Amino acid sequence: MITAKNPRYIFVTGGVVSSLGKGIAAASLGALLQAHGYRVRMRKLDPYLNVDPGTMSPFQHGEVYVTDDGAETDLDLGHYERFTGVAAQRGDNITTGKIYSEVIARERRGDYLGATVQVIPHVTDMIKDFVTSDTDDYDFVLCEIGGTVGDIESLPFLEAIRQLRNELGVGRTLFAHLTLVPYIASAGEIKTKPTQHSVKELLGLGIQPDVLLCRCDRDIPEEARHKIALFCNIRKEAVIAALDVQTIYQVPSTLHTQGFDTEVLRHFGLATTPPDIAAWDALVTRQLNPQGTVKIGIVGKYTSVVDSYKSLAEALTHAGIANNVAVEMVWLSAEALENGNTESLETVDAILVPGGFGERGTAGKICAVQYARENNIPYFGICFGMQMAVIEIARHLAGLPTANSTELGQTSEPVVGLMTEWENQGTLEKRSLSTNKGGTMRLGAYECVLRAASKARAIYGADSISERHRHRYEVNINYQARLEGVGLQFSGLSPDGGLPEIVELTDHPWFIGVQFHPELKSKPHAPHPLFVSFVAAALGRSL
Ligand code: GLN
Repeated sequence: MITAKNPRYIFVTGGVVSSLGKGIAAASLGALLQAHGYRVRMRKLDPYLNVDPGTMSPFQHGEVYVTDDGAETDLDLGHYERFTGVAAQRGDNITTGKIYSEVIARERRGDYLGATVQVIPHVTDMIKDFVTSDTDDYDFVLCEIGGTVGDIESLPFLEAIRQLRNELGVGRTLFAHLTLVPYIASAGEIKTKPTQHSVKELLGLGIQPDVLLCRCDRDIPEEARHKIALFCNIRKEAVIAALDVQTIYQVPSTLHTQGFDTEVLRHFGLATTPPDIAAWDALVTRQLNPQGTVKIGIVGKYTSVVDSYKSLAEALTHAGIANNVAVEMVWLSAEALENGNTESLETVDAILVPGGFGERGTAGKICAVQYARENNIPYFGICFGMQMAVIEIARHLAGLPTANSTELGQTSEPVVGLMTEWENQGTLEKRSLSTNKGGTMRLGAYECVLRAASKARAIYGADSISERHRHRYEVNINYQARLEGVGLQFSGLSPDGGLPEIVELTDHPWFIGVQFHPELKSKPHAPHPLFVSFVAAALGRSL
């Protein structure tokens, strides 16, 4: 064990093309270092100018991952948390936008005493402060640099990590670079040139990679490894093949087999005894040998972009592994279900309506709820999916045909309404319709108290839970008696009893809506109980 207050910094960059799996590779290295007994912290440096990913379209950017402390972050932080089990924090994701707004705020305050404010040193100093802040308790801090080397936006980040190497020394920093080694079918061979060019680009910025992760769809022959090592100034053992795998959870053990963690530890002069990866191996064996399949229909708006539902898909996968089955996710466009076109729901074993925003697709989501309720099909409503369930039941069971959410227009029966104030750890938070779009939601971890005689209480096995939120609207507590009268139990409430957190139908095999996002906390080694129970219900079992 290396001593705390002396963390090592590992920087993971990417070259050639994007989408090579840099986030998963970094998360897997984090998991491997933990398997060697080290404490890790993972961070993401995003080069775009948005201040945070909260207002970015899920079509373009995938899911917004929310931390316990209420930060809206890049979806890679979800991978980090799932792979290492370490809860991500606000300080683990920085964007160029955030760095610049802080530098400009300081300039306006006069903090720079009239100096000319420049990328070097002012912006790079701010980046270095971010990288090194609050890291005393960790053995390793892994920082992934978003984007691809050569992008204009990532230059200040690369310059900052170059400076850190200089300041902290080789013994406390490591540069790992992920590149592509393509196989060219017509030539019948793999090509190392893109890797050479990418490393050249890094060298031009003053960064000599210490380890190369070469993404390749086949094993890299000795000769090619030798060539890469020679042209890129690194040891042959530091050329690591990052091979394609069947599931992302195979990546830690595959990278270990290729020697990634060994090479990293060797670089830092640490012992290279074998890591304890038995739990990863057992998980993968289970995942690759399912005893059957269960089909879950997911009714959403962004169904064409699976990245928009990254944590949800992972949580369902974890629950499948826990139930020894493969989960087939059937992504259904809510708009196609409108006017009762529910045939596509007839072949699924369970229905899930995930989080969402805005009017489009809501009629189809309400049809999906009604179909699940009337046909006794397991239903799981998450955030917007809970709100849709409440509207459906208010309209069709509670005799409130005009029931609606104020998010979708004016209504005489606001069963879901804009939340204007709520309690957060003893203080009152307030919002109004006119507040800025960015960061105006109820975000992060809040406690929820479970009713003793409820399915939710039985599933969690606890009286009180903490889950993460990201929403503006809330089920209206004034309708509690009316809705409970028709069998919709309010089984989870905020500690002050004012905010409904969980609703469930008592006269149904499995019908639960939650105002929070349980998918954000599910992990392969600790699947979320609600998802595990939902998949079990889809299989016709009860847990
Ligand atoms: N649009 C809804 C709200 O703001 C639900 C949000 C969500 O599903 N994340 O309350």
